[in-house]
Amino acid sequence: MRILVVDDEPRLLDAYRICLEKQASVDSELDSLADALFGAEKNAVESTGKEFSVDYVDQGEAAVSAVNVAVAQGKPYAVLFLDMRMPPGIDGRETARQIRLLDANINIVIVTGYSDHSPLDVAQVAGPQDKLYYLAKPFETEEIKTLANSLAAKWTMEDELKQAHQALSEKMAELESSHLELAASEARCRHIALHDQLTRLPNRLAFQQCLSAALADKQQDVAVLFVDLDRFKLVNDTLGHSAGDELVSTLGAGMTKLLPEGGLLARLGGDEFGIVLPGEISTSAIALGDRLKSLCAEPYDLFGTKVHVGASIGIALRGSTNADGSELLRRADLALYAAKQNGRNCCKLFEATMDESARKRGEIDTRLRKALDENALTLAYQPIVDPATEESIGYEALLRWHDPVHGTISPSIFVPVAEETGLITRLGEWVVRQALADCATWPSGFVSINLSTRHFQSPKLTDFVCDEAARAGVPHDRIQLEITETALFDDAALAAKILVDLRKVGIRIALDDFGTGYSSLVNLKDFDIDCIKIDQSFVATLGADRQSSAIVNSVTSLARALGLRVVAEGVESELQVQTLRMVGCELMQGYFYSEAMHAQDLPFQSQQKSAEAALARSSRAAA
Ligand code: C2E
Ligand code: CA
Ligand code: CA
Repeated sequence: MRILVVDDEPRLLDAYRICLEKQASVDSELDSLADALFGAEKNAVESTGKEFSVDYVDQGEAAVSAVNVAVAQGKPYAVLFLDMRMPPGIDGRETARQIRLLDANINIVIVTGYSDHSPLDVAQVAGPQDKLYYLAKPFETEEIKTLANSLAAKWTMEDELKQAHQALSEKMAELESSHLELAASEARCRHIALHDQLTRLPNRLAFQQCLSAALADKQQDVAVLFVDLDRFKLVNDTLGHSAGDELVSTLGAGMTKLLPEGGLLARLGGDEFGIVLPGEISTSAIALGDRLKSLCAEPYDLFGTKVHVGASIGIALRGSTNADGSELLRRADLALYAAKQNGRNCCKLFEATMDESARKRGEIDTRLRKALDENALTLAYQPIVDPATEESIGYEALLRWHDPVHGTISPSIFVPVAEETGLITRLGEWVVRQALADCATWPSGFVSINLSTRHFQSPKLTDFVCDEAARAGVPHDRIQLEITETALFDDAALAAKILVDLRKVGIRIALDDFGTGYSSLVNLKDFDIDCIKIDQSFVATLGADRQSSAIVNSVTSLARALGLRVVAEGVESELQVQTLRMVGCELMQGYFYSEAMHAQDLPFQSQQKSAEAALARSSRAAA
């Protein structure tokens, strides 16, 4: 605690010294004697009041500069004892005025014997009142001591209060800023909850909220559009997920630009987008659908590769119907389904007939389950022929269903329905079991079984086929499974693993309908397959369409280079056989040789039968 004393009379300065400084230093001689007699114990007894560090000056100017230095050093004085008359320098009033300007907290004690300055006079220039004290000369030393002690205590308290104030306002500022931060992060959380990370578009939740809000206004019409990219999986599988992400982001941004005011575009999942258009009439919803379709059909450059995707779009309008949110979504979904069925890159508005076809699919599903339960399905077998020897080396199993009400239903109709509803795995298991049981009775030849993508991807497929083969007593080298390109590329990593498993146990794989999907032979070398079946659409146009011939030609030679067998599907004429043989295709399947037959009609046993068939064929060819 620092005290400053200003007085021009040396006698008075001495008096201050006696009052303010530790008894110890005044009686230092006595002290050293006491130390010698009693040891250190005396020190503990003597120090009662506050300890002060006191400076003494005899002129006002010196006092001002001492205060100036003290403030600058951050060690201000708590109390100033100030004489009023200090010739020749400035008087006490002026000293007090200047010091107050330097230090707002110092307690100034005016010590005077004259009444030349009224207290008010000094207070005017060195206030405030509560930091100004008066002491009349001559003073008692006790008065000085008491005043110094209590003013020092007051100064300390004020100082502490000031610091507490300061800390409080710092805390307040801190709280204020963390409140702001909290508000900002809350807003960020809300944004994240309602937006898709990749595209920064609104997400499914935001889409649903927007739809509910739009539907709440009964006065306005509402349109819902579903946009689903075609062949997106291909991009992901062939160019990688970052290319897929890039494409989705680019298209999302492009679509946003086409959106009319008030509309909301959301990313609903992978390659699926949804749009809510409030107050839109049907024509503008359809116009928007068409613009979106054109946008998606443009070629995009992805990391140096040009890709064409395209989009299927389904639209549903509330119109005058009472459709609620979920009904509107269901209708938009049906319209999207119809667009996809229509060969993709297509925009469809919901129509009542779509409900009808959905109903029909539902009925097919019900009846197919029943047929499966009642074992009313059968298999027909179509020979796969080596034209050089005219011998059947294997037989493809094809499902046949004769429904008592609807008559014969083609697998091209019911297999896709079963795929959609999930019944396909049960159906496929039935086919595998039945085909292996039939094959076990044949003297020679392998059985070729069609597998749907879903069934192919099911876990334990290999175990299942092996178990059934063991039960039927069919060696694995007499089993071939036909899968499509979709099965390979839907989940390429999974497919590769399954193929390795199947190959390990000696089961062969044929790639069905080759050329209709998106695989190129270059991609195929990554998969363990044995055989390629060239789709019948190429065989059918073989003579007529130059491109078909070119494709068959190159597929055959590349397949042979990769060590794969090639089967031509849908061979119907002698000319096709000759052309196919010319390009090196060594196996044929089609009506030219035989339609699919029921197991009991297969012409194994009798050489006679096949000789007759060959004769009939050559006369047909000659005609
Ligand atoms: P797919 O695997 O391409 O089968 C060949 C289809 O072409 C069969 O039709 C067959 O009868 C027909 N076909 C054979 N030779 C000729 C020909 O010379 N000309 C013409 N125009 N067509 C010929 P099907 O039996 O109606 O089967 C249609 C599709 O249904 C099959 O196409 C296959 O994708 C699917 N399918 C059939 N059976 C099964 C099965 O057991 N499981 C699965 N998952 N799908 C099956
Ligand atoms: Ca097939
Ligand atoms: Ca086929």
